[in-house]
This record gives sequence, C-alpha cells and structure tokens, in this order.
Amino acid sequence: MTDAPDASALGPLARRVRRSLNGDHPGETGTMLPPLVDHHVHLQLVRPDDAVAGGIAAVVDLGADPGAIATIARTEGLPHVRYAGAFLTAPGGYPSDRPWAPAGSVRELRSVDGDADASAERTREREHQALAGPVEAVVDEQWRFGASVVKIALNADAGPVFDRPTLDAVVAAARTRGLPVAAHAEGPGMAELAIEADVDVLVHAPFTDRLDDELIARAAAAGQSWISTLAIHVRDGGPAAGIAIDNVRRFRDAGGRVLYGTDLGNGDLRAGVNPDEVAALVRAGLAASAVIAALADPWPERTAGWTDAGVATFVPDPAPSGADLADPEAVAAWLAAAQIVPTEELEPR
Ligand SMILES: [Zn+2]
Repeated sequence: MTDAPDASALGPLARRVRRSLNGDHPGETGTMLPPLVDHHVHLQLVRPDDAVAGGIAAVVDLGADPGAIATIARTEGLPHVRYAGAFLTAPGGYPSDRPWAPAGSVRELRSVDGDADASAERTREREHQALAGPVEAVVDEQWRFGASVVKIALNADAGPVFDRPTLDAVVAAARTRGLPVAAHAEGPGMAELAIEADVDVLVHAPFTDRLDDELIARAAAAGQSWISTLAIHVRDGGPAAGIAIDNVRRFRDAGGRVLYGTDLGNGDLRAGVNPDEVAALVRAGLAASAVIAALADPWPERTAGWTDAGVATFVPDPAPSGADLADPEAVAAWLAAAQIVPTEELEPR
C-alpha cells in the first residue's frame, strides 16, 4: 500500500478524491466509486438500514409479495429498490412449502403441456393475440406491480420444477414484457436446464455441481449473468463454496458477467458490503477492479441512472495496490469500509 495508489489499478469506475472541507471528515482522502448494488436481497425478511449504513445504496429484491415489495420500493430514501415480485414455480415447488416464504410471494404454475385442451387453447390465444393464458397472466401480474425482472425457482432438491415447455413459456412471456428472467437453479441438471432455456441470470452462482467447461462457455456466450451469493456457502460450510467459486472462476475466464449479491435475508449475514462475499469473489479470480464492476453493475437496468440520485460511494484510504489488488483479505477489508456520501461532498484529487 502506498500514499497515493494508482487509481487506474482499481479500474475505470474508481476516482481518487478527498472529502470537502464543509462535510464530515473534512479533507479525508480515499476512492470514489459509483453507488453499490446488492443484486440479491429479500426485503420482506430483512431491514435494509444496516446494508445502507454499510455502503449499499441499491438492492434488487428477488422474491416477495408483489404488492408488499412495490410499497417498500416506493419508500423515500435509500436503498433504491428494483424487484422481481413473486417466485414463479411448479405446483408444490420450492419455495411454496418454506416457512420463510412471505404470504403471497409464490405463484404456482401448472404445466402448459399437461393438458391437451389447455395447450390447444394457448395456441388459439397466441393466434388471436388476445386473452392471456395462466403463464402470461402471472408474468403480467408482476409487470403491473412494477417488476424489473421475473424470478423463477428450479430447485430439484426441494420439490417439482417446471418442465421445459412451461419454462419456455415463462421465458417467452417475460420477453414479451421486456423483462429478464432470473432463476434459482439448485439440484442435478438445474443450471444446465436454465442455460439451455436461455434464462438471463442465475441468482446463485451454480453451487450444487461442477459445470463442465463447455456448458460454462455456452452460458457466457449467451450473455447469461451470475449473481455471486458465495458468502452464504462459506458461512454454511460443506462443499458448496468450493464448487461455486470454481464455477465462477471458469465462467469469468469464459467472459461471463458476474454480479455482486448476497441473498441478504437468507439467515445470518453481515449487512452492507460483505467482506466474506468480496473475499470469495477475489478467490474466484476477480481482482479489485472486477469486484468493483460487479458491485456497481446497473442490472437489471441497462444504465446506472436508477442508482444515481446524488450519492456516491467513498472508501477511505489506504486503497489496495500492487499484489494487494488480488489479495482476498486486503480487498475485502478495504471495500467493507465503504460509505455512502453525497456526491457533492467529494472533490477530485
Ligand atoms: Zn434469495
């Protein structure tokens, strides 16, 4: 570490700044970053105040009662919220039987292939482009509540999952509304199913199986993104953390886009920029600049405008440099000190 590290080593999103003389900590030097996003949270299960205090300015809620999350998202102040609305799943599928699933947060969809009459009816509806079937109705419900993404559960370890025709119908309905599809893929073959069905995002980096290189290359080439959620596996022990970190490393090497996310609301997790999540990302091969990009990624929006309401991230010096840029503990300790400050309080150096 040096007094004046080369900001370019932290990537194009980092700026060397000092805090203005009329704010808090006048003259303190550090690094300015864009507002940081936790791309996987559940705001019906956790209060976001601590996350905001710990440097997270925006969150993406990936499973809630659509009316409740729409109300939460309209609340003034931080964090800025984007959301999926309900979990879409097969009848009896995950998480319909989970005690933590908030009332009204699950929509169970029957197979579109299960009944020939329904299938023929769907075809007629498509031809007439009029009445929507049950899949379209459920996707439209989330869209009407203001969802930015459609969340589906494909958890073969915890109940039935969509068959391929139903999964395809959900993806098609979401595309009609201009919404990406984000999948919880868990259990044998589920990440593969999501990749083959051209799902946009995996809400957990695959953690049940080591994906082969060819499948990972296909996911990256298709533009799929993976939300990291590595700290929950580190916390829980067992093989999942190692499997997920290895998958992320090869996904990154193949050009895949990784989004920082913690699944805040899933048990006991430190709120704010989570040093365990950052350290695991570095272990997966993301240097400090790549971790910053994963934290500042505008997904599910195309541009960062939704997070930018006069606030920026300030990380006090000393910033990592040299070998520390790829050191898990050094990068984690640095980013865990991130604070949200008014942009006007920061002056370029
Ligand atoms: Zn989750």
